[in-house]
Amino acid sequence: MVTAIVGANWGDEGKGKITDMLAETSDIIIRFQGGANAGHTIINNYGKFALHTLPSGVFYDHTVSIIGNGVALDIPKLFKEIKDIESKGVPSPKILVSDRAQMVMPYHILLDGYEEERLAGKSFGSTKSGIAPFYSDKYAKIGFQVSELFDDEESLKDKISRVITQKNVLLEHLYHKPLLTVDEVYATLMEFKAMVEPYVCDVSAFLYDAIKAGKNILLEGQLGSMKDPDHGIYPMVTSSSTLAAYGAIGAGIPPYEIKKIVTVVKAYSSAVGAGEFVSEIFGDEADELRRRGGDGGEFGATTGRPRRMGWFDCVATRYGCRIQGTTDVAFTVLDVLGYLDEIPVCVGYEIDGVVTKDFPVTAKLKKAKPVYEVLPGWKTEIRGITKYEDLPENCRNYIEFIEKEIGFPITMVSNGPGRHEIIYRA
Ligand code: GDP
Repeated sequence: MVTAIVGANWGDEGKGKITDMLAETSDIIIRFQGGANAGHTIINNYGKFALHTLPSGVFYDHTVSIIGNGVALDIPKLFKEIKDIESKGVPSPKILVSDRAQMVMPYHILLDGYEEERLAGKSFGSTKSGIAPFYSDKYAKIGFQVSELFDDEESLKDKISRVITQKNVLLEHLYHKPLLTVDEVYATLMEFKAMVEPYVCDVSAFLYDAIKAGKNILLEGQLGSMKDPDHGIYPMVTSSSTLAAYGAIGAGIPPYEIKKIVTVVKAYSSAVGAGEFVSEIFGDEADELRRRGGDGGEFGATTGRPRRMGWFDCVATRYGCRIQGTTDVAFTVLDVLGYLDEIPVCVGYEIDGVVTKDFPVTAKLKKAKPVYEVLPGWKTEIRGITKYEDLPENCRNYIEFIEKEIGFPITMVSNGPGRHEIIYRA
């Protein structure tokens, strides 16, 4: 059976923890989109890890971890991550890389940084990992697939020459930076080839057989619904689809095989980078939530940047769950809210004097003001609780209020960052 694990919000919902947890009973874990621009933080018996490219199932002996064709593959970063986990005692993971995955080129990373510098105050808040230039090239049909590393030297150099002619115009005239040469890019690709060769295969054929054999397969999404380029807060989005539906494309499996869509929803809101965030809070209130959030503060796993903080947003989350095609909600980081006397929850947006519960397009979102309902807090530690009935009444009320507002079943409640800190609801 294929299960997708995706986010309903702006990312950082705790997908890594849920994936690591579900991987215990899975055979294959696949990354199907995005690149090394975001991170999943995982805490397990080997320690604490920030994964950027590796799927969150790499900590088990029994799993195969796959980089799907939809990923923006940064080969040096992938190998650094493999070395890092091995150096902390994790057994060498079994990894497969799709021959159709495309590679983040060193010039994608440079161009991402130069463009952010050029845009200055109007920048997208990119992590400068090369993701937007990478996907632009993919869809402009001038990207490099892993399979092309195995082409003969002449045809590969010929393509490099065509591609860098265009890049050099930008480098010279727009950014005033050093130019690229064919030999330099070719040499880099040969280094990539040496690193990746043992892992390359036809992933979709492997998955076709695995599905037929009844294997349990997880599709691990990066970021969340709000960052989807079609359905999110465009243009402050990422460059590849963050939706479960894209799992079929980015892994190369039939869409009807995705039977379960676990949408991870955080008990409060956080966001990185610029973009609309209606229930955002500021000042001391935000600082305290940021400091207490996650497993050691809400700071970016890739960049260390402080995350923007906000109260739970039912409007964005209902939409985020709907667009994912949610079958189950995993409600995470609930334990963090135990310090609050009262907890505001955003239940509507006021736009031009009218209150709506429907998530609007970006132009309207810019005008939206949050409408809050305030729920009582539970003022106690809930970590260590394993049965739903044992949660404090106000805590259960918070969960059930949100479940009703978003309209999708919360079947898992995460009350701590650890692998087994989870409460299942029937
Ligand atoms: P992801 O990108 O969706 O995997 O999310 P991140 O890893 O960026 O952020 C989630 C953070 O919350 C991580 O530091 C997790 O260890 C932590 N986390 C996940 N679930 C829980 C939970 O239930 N309680 C607490 N306190 N932390 C959690």
